[in-house]
Amino acid sequence: MAVFTHAACFAHDTGPGHVETPARLGAVVTALRDHVPGLEWLEAPRASRGQLLRVHEPLLLRTVLEAEPAHLVQLDPDTVLSPGSPEAALRAAGAVVAAVDLVMAGESEAAFCAVRPPGHHATPAHAMGFCLFNNVAVGAAHALDRHGLSRVAIIDFDIHHGNGTQAIFAEEPRVLYASAHEMPLFPETGQPRDRGIGNLHNAALQAGSGSHRFREAWRDRLLPAIDGFEPQLVMISAGFDGHRADPVAHIELEADDFAWLTGELAGIASRHAGGRMVSVLEGGYDLAALAECSIAHVRALGACATG
Ligand SMILES: [Zn+2]
Repeated sequence: MAVFTHAACFAHDTGPGHVETPARLGAVVTALRDHVPGLEWLEAPRASRGQLLRVHEPLLLRTVLEAEPAHLVQLDPDTVLSPGSPEAALRAAGAVVAAVDLVMAGESEAAFCAVRPPGHHATPAHAMGFCLFNNVAVGAAHALDRHGLSRVAIIDFDIHHGNGTQAIFAEEPRVLYASAHEMPLFPETGQPRDRGIGNLHNAALQAGSGSHRFREAWRDRLLPAIDGFEPQLVMISAGFDGHRADPVAHIELEADDFAWLTGELAGIASRHAGGRMVSVLEGGYDLAALAECSIAHVRALGACATG
């Protein structure tokens, strides 16, 4: 299977003391290179303005691409724009577009995008929550417009709710969005009653839920909805901040929980989508846990891709 990344993603500088560091991407890339043989490593291209404008307003493109900051600029208390950020953001979104093209061409069943900044909090007009462009949404919109798909599922297992992805697709019948996330927690969205046009599936988890309740939410509520949607492409917002070692959340998962869920999603992809899966790195802030979870996730994606 294929992994898209780019050196520019290391140059998005969030400043001292920030948890969303370049070292995160280093941990993921090193772990995959050392422990998952047979990956095809590919350089992420830049997303085009047209690809970004499918989900974002011109205001956000101006904010990220035209500010040309000489130093670090706080877009909000969490979200930073540095001199290297525009190129990193273009490569992160472009990775997902290229991954969609690759799996739609049948050149690889599954692809993983090892990129930063993450994306799922970015709304049509605003960067927030460490996210500049909504990478997974840019890829999903490309699958709809360029490849003519009519059913794309976005599964978000980052432990924060993907408010940006939900906002972008809440009225798009061709996209199903499913998320299980800790509540209350940033960004305080994703109530189970938020159903959009029936295409949103949100499960709220209390602090301390652990593996059992996490798997129960997916197995009993979210996975049947995704399976019933019969997606032609399965996309994943792969955040690993639900791990018990993570400093920002309190769900207390193990790496094996991410491998289990990835395997369940691979089953759905093989039943309906010809095995086509595109996964995109979101959060995960304990470097050792992030490395361990990335290995578990990509191995499970690759197991699907080879059989
Ligand atoms: Zn997160």
